[in-house]
Amino acid sequence: MSLLLLPGHDVPLGRWTTVRRLLPHRERRMIGAWCFVDHFGPDDVSGRPGMRIPPHPHTGLQTVTWLADGIIEHRDSLGSHQLISPGQLNLMTSGNGIAHSEFTPPDHPDGMHGLQLWLALPDGARHGPARFEHHASLPTVSTDTTKVTVVIGQLGELRSPATVHTPLAGAEILFTAASRHVLDLDPAFEHGLVVMSGTATVTGDPLLAADPLFAGGPLEPGSLLYLGDGRTTLTIDTGGPARLFLVGGEPFDEPLVMWWNFVGRTHEDIVAAREDWMASLGGARFGTVTGCAADPLPAPELPTVRLKARNRHGKTF
Ligand code: MN
Repeated sequence: MSLLLLPGHDVPLGRWTTVRRLLPHRERRMIGAWCFVDHFGPDDVSGRPGMRIPPHPHTGLQTVTWLADGIIEHRDSLGSHQLISPGQLNLMTSGNGIAHSEFTPPDHPDGMHGLQLWLALPDGARHGPARFEHHASLPTVSTDTTKVTVVIGQLGELRSPATVHTPLAGAEILFTAASRHVLDLDPAFEHGLVVMSGTATVTGDPLLAADPLFAGGPLEPGSLLYLGDGRTTLTIDTGGPARLFLVGGEPFDEPLVMWWNFVGRTHEDIVAAREDWMASLGGARFGTVTGCAADPLPAPELPTVRLKARNRHGKTF
């Protein structure tokens, strides 16, 4: 049986930040179009620089930045310059190529905690124009003890205004006290659940209870729980305050080649993107990030073997 609880692993991101990478996982590369999930913090960055990610390129994806604590300054080669705070969405669509930088500003709060996620663009959109969106206000629904924010896509009756290219869902479920919450899900979507803080139990699910790693929970920060598709509801119990993030979407059928900051379909796609970036660390394809004092990041060396496309289950082509 395939693993449902997917343990993350620590990845250093620049000199000052370590993230917990939850996707891609060996057993499961994607959930819907979500192809990359990094969870960072909660970290105390008082008297420290915080996040320092110099200008770097992207192709074939959208980056989704979501904060629970702290502040990040985004700049990109379209000329966008945007501070993001908790409860807001930064959504950058690379199309054929874009470059951006992300820094904790010098004057910042003590805490830093958030997610950075990627959405693969379908073939019909991956050569399109680059775009940046900041959404300061997103649809929410609250009870006495919970607040659900639909960050992107659709969940139940709520739809985020953010631009998407495949049917998907991304939502924060915040519990302010121990309680039960039932989410309505689209059964055509597959879903995954990330605990950012606190603990949570998915109730009444024999399949999850049979998973040798999960065994019914509780789910804690550091892993991603794959929930499969076909669900119309999800019942979550918490023993206290907790912050969760749900990712979901229609299963994404296109095999991808993911390497460094590029998402393509073939080895040649990646070679071309790397060459275009390394030619001038910007150039006609990616553009220049203005206003960022740091030098652009050179790409690492390509491996000596051809990069293979993989589908969402990790099968190579
Ligand atoms: Mn990036």
